[in-house]
Amino acid sequence: MKIITRFAPSPTGYLHIGNIRTALYSWLFARKNKGSFILRIENTDFQRSKKIFIKNIIDTLQWLNIDWDKGPYFQSERLNRYNNIINTMLYQGKAYKCYCSKEELEQNKQKQIINKEKIKYNGKCRNNKLLSNTNLPYTIRLKIPKNKYITFTDTLRGKILFDNNELDDFIIKRTDGVPTYNFCVVIDDWDMKITHVIRGEDHINNTPKQIHIINAIGANIPIYTHVSIITDKLGKKISKRNNNLSILKYKENGYLPIALLNYILRLGWSYKDKEIFSLEEMKKLFNLKNLSKSSSILNIKKLNWLNKYYLSQLSKSNMINYLKKFCNKNNININNGPKLNDLYKIFYKRCNTLNEINNLCLIFYKKPDYNNNLLIKNYLNIKNKVILEIFKKNLINTKIWSLDHINDLFKKILLKLNITYKTAAMTLRLAITGLENTPPINNIIYLMGKEKIIHHINDALNFIKFNI
Ligand code: GLU
Ligand code: ZN
Repeated sequence: MKIITRFAPSPTGYLHIGNIRTALYSWLFARKNKGSFILRIENTDFQRSKKIFIKNIIDTLQWLNIDWDKGPYFQSERLNRYNNIINTMLYQGKAYKCYCSKEELEQNKQKQIINKEKIKYNGKCRNNKLLSNTNLPYTIRLKIPKNKYITFTDTLRGKILFDNNELDDFIIKRTDGVPTYNFCVVIDDWDMKITHVIRGEDHINNTPKQIHIINAIGANIPIYTHVSIITDKLGKKISKRNNNLSILKYKENGYLPIALLNYILRLGWSYKDKEIFSLEEMKKLFNLKNLSKSSSILNIKKLNWLNKYYLSQLSKSNMINYLKKFCNKNNININNGPKLNDLYKIFYKRCNTLNEINNLCLIFYKKPDYNNNLLIKNYLNIKNKVILEIFKKNLINTKIWSLDHINDLFKKILLKLNITYKTAAMTLRLAITGLENTPPINNIIYLMGKEKIIHHINDALNFIKFNI
């Protein structure tokens, strides 16, 4: 049997880590088994589906290098297919028209609440043929077999049993003529010959409904794997509405696709105690059996660790290309400072994200901003003025611009002023860069060159003068 999986997002929000995790698992499962992976856009909720979210789905998958073999299919283009099947089901008596008004359904519901009964449709139209030729609006409901159980086996959770009496004859086509989500999913999975459905745990309750539809149309039941939820640090389930978790936000913030994939893979799946997986290893090692049944917690530190690792693996030329692109995009003239080639040495292996690297790179081309840092007033003050003045004087008089010479200068001044390296370095660092975390300040001074350094020290001295 050829394995066929799918990723079936609804374009009602930006793809987040939870969505991509099911995409990744479905994709890897297909790749591992030499199967096929389908992309399907579930956009029958016309109110909430938006073009920008469709674009976001495609862009995100492409950025992460998750490729699909077929699709994207759009449910909005398959309405005729769904409706043809519904008409056949009506004809066969597997579904029926329900003419109950909203008010009537609401009354029924209130009665059930008062009687402490389970809220469900009372089946009034199930056997009522009288109304079938009127012009009244109607929905179409599935006729669920009475007094039976339905069972399915979930790869992770084993056998799951549902009592049919818990379900009502649910709607498969709304008054507006659009088939409902559960119906479209089943028809699509059938037409696309999906063998394995891997999706979020939040869909478990839809599964018995979908199996009833599958049985009514005589399709095969796919193998279900419902993966556990992901929560934030506080244990709250992550949601589509939280834009900060949108995958492309991670791209904007300087994460590499492979680091993110690696991180997402490990949120709920493990292989021995292996932490780092190349794409090829993921495709080779992935299986459903090692998925975790308990929920997974987002951990940005872990992601940063992985990203730092993958950044340290980038070739010099790749890294420099990233920096060049960044500078171009931000109109930074790289001729107006050290060569990117030289910068590479001091950034290499010290940053978590490309953005951190970019920001560090900026210090060589832009004026320091003293208003953005709480530490500034602890260092750029009247007490430390003398440190800046003495460095300025000595640097101006320096004839040979070398790293050794700058290091000697530091030693000399520390002795003379009887201050710690930390005080001197931090004062200079904040004066020259406006930042508290940078590569070693002696390296920065050397690379930045005399003229710029003197300029920044003057700015810092002025800042102190006007901020007393
Ligand atoms: N469209 C559904 C969603 O976005 C997924 C349906 C499925 O995987 O069966 O949650
Ligand atoms: Zn009815």
